[in-house]
Amino acid sequence: MPQPPDFDVAIAGAGIVGASVAWHLAGAGLSVAVIDATGPAAAASGASDGAVSVASKKPGPLARLASASLLYTRVLSQGGPLAGAFQARPSYVFGQGAAELAAMDALIVKLGQIAGPVRVSADGGRGVLPGLGTGVERLVALDGEGHMPGHKAVRAYLARPGITPVWPARIMGITADDAGVTLDLGARRLRAGRLVAALGVSTPDHFPALPVIPRAGQLFITDRGPAGALPGSLTAAAYLLAKTDSPAAAPLPPVVIDPLATGQFIIGSSREDHGDPLRVDFATLRQLMTRSVAAWPMLAELRVIRAFAGIRAAVADGLPIVGPLPDAPRILMATGFEGDGICLSALIGAEVARMARGLPPSDAVAADLNALSPSRFTPQRQEGRA
Ligand SMILES: Cc1cc2nc3c(=O)[nH]c(=O)nc-3n(C[C@H](O)[C@H](O)[C@H](O)COP(=O)(O)OP(=O)(O)OC[C@H]3O[C@@H](n4cnc5c(N)ncnc54)[C@H](O)[C@@H]3O)c2cc1C
Repeated sequence: MPQPPDFDVAIAGAGIVGASVAWHLAGAGLSVAVIDATGPAAAASGASDGAVSVASKKPGPLARLASASLLYTRVLSQGGPLAGAFQARPSYVFGQGAAELAAMDALIVKLGQIAGPVRVSADGGRGVLPGLGTGVERLVALDGEGHMPGHKAVRAYLARPGITPVWPARIMGITADDAGVTLDLGARRLRAGRLVAALGVSTPDHFPALPVIPRAGQLFITDRGPAGALPGSLTAAAYLLAKTDSPAAAPLPPVVIDPLATGQFIIGSSREDHGDPLRVDFATLRQLMTRSVAAWPMLAELRVIRAFAGIRAAVADGLPIVGPLPDAPRILMATGFEGDGICLSALIGAEVARMARGLPPSDAVAADLNALSPSRFTPQRQEGRA
């Protein structure tokens, strides 16, 4: 007979998604263990840019969920756990050439359809923002988005009483039965009533039927420039071209220039189909740097002090995987957030915590959450679609 649970819920993975779920569950009075092979924010959540952006999301469920998550992130930043992590700031999308200008038209349509917290405040040429370079033909200025370093949010969430940290501890095996889930941690076993699997790019190690693949992104950080010169993120519209149902090859690199509070800039990021965090590719970085300087020439004065690759967990259909496994409903998946997990983490944490408590999803997001269900990868569902 299986042993009684040590915890109401075990959370596999101390990235921003697992940490947000843990914060919400502990707040509801459940006992929660967070298990991580390394420690908090050890993977994608510690290697990301941190844009909390609706503009950059694929149209449809993801963009609507991002809009809801942005609103909720703002709530959690007003005296809540994200008070020291989330910063509201303007954001800008720039483009050059026909493909990017068309993507900017589509962006304005998308934001109008969502009618959420992100509004177009200006749309014009280089004159909209002093300091832009000749690499900008058109600029759309947005109000309502923000920035949140993943590692800060993770630490803030995990500080909540009621969360038991279990790291470093690698999960070697997962077994579910009718009463709970048992984790094999090598030296010991841990049993919980439910498991939330927020394992990011490592998901297929334990759930090989789920098509999560690694997608690397090269980033670099500059030394300090004059603080405040660029008031918010500057995103090339090429980035939007990659976030559609039929991703188009962008003619120019999809660069995002993000000013940090320190006066430094974090600039990224490429999309490469490999999972090697040690592969820093100078040719790609050079392309990103060249386009960055063309858009914001002041960057030419700064040194690059660090370059690194972060690994995103991507899913073939471009949507995360969130919800109970059809054949093991005590296991809730929360993975595959690719380049969107910082933005989505607040809402997903709240909704997965509801699922773990046996509650239905919130009405406002139920249909869009349903589109993320792991059941879309079960054989029956695929046959049904054929
Ligand atoms: C270069 C780059 C730029 C990005 N920019 C943005 C951005 O601007 N905005 C945005 O919203 N998102 C961005 N993202 C995406 C965002 O960082 C991720 O979507 C998000 O961090 C995913 O969080 P997670 O908790 O799902 O996974 P992760 O943070 O990857 O956490 C998974 C955790 O599981 C642990 N783990 C794995 N296997 C095991 C095991 N067997 N046992 C125990 N623990 C295990 C790992 O140690 C890790 O801590 C970016 C990502 C990258 C790489």
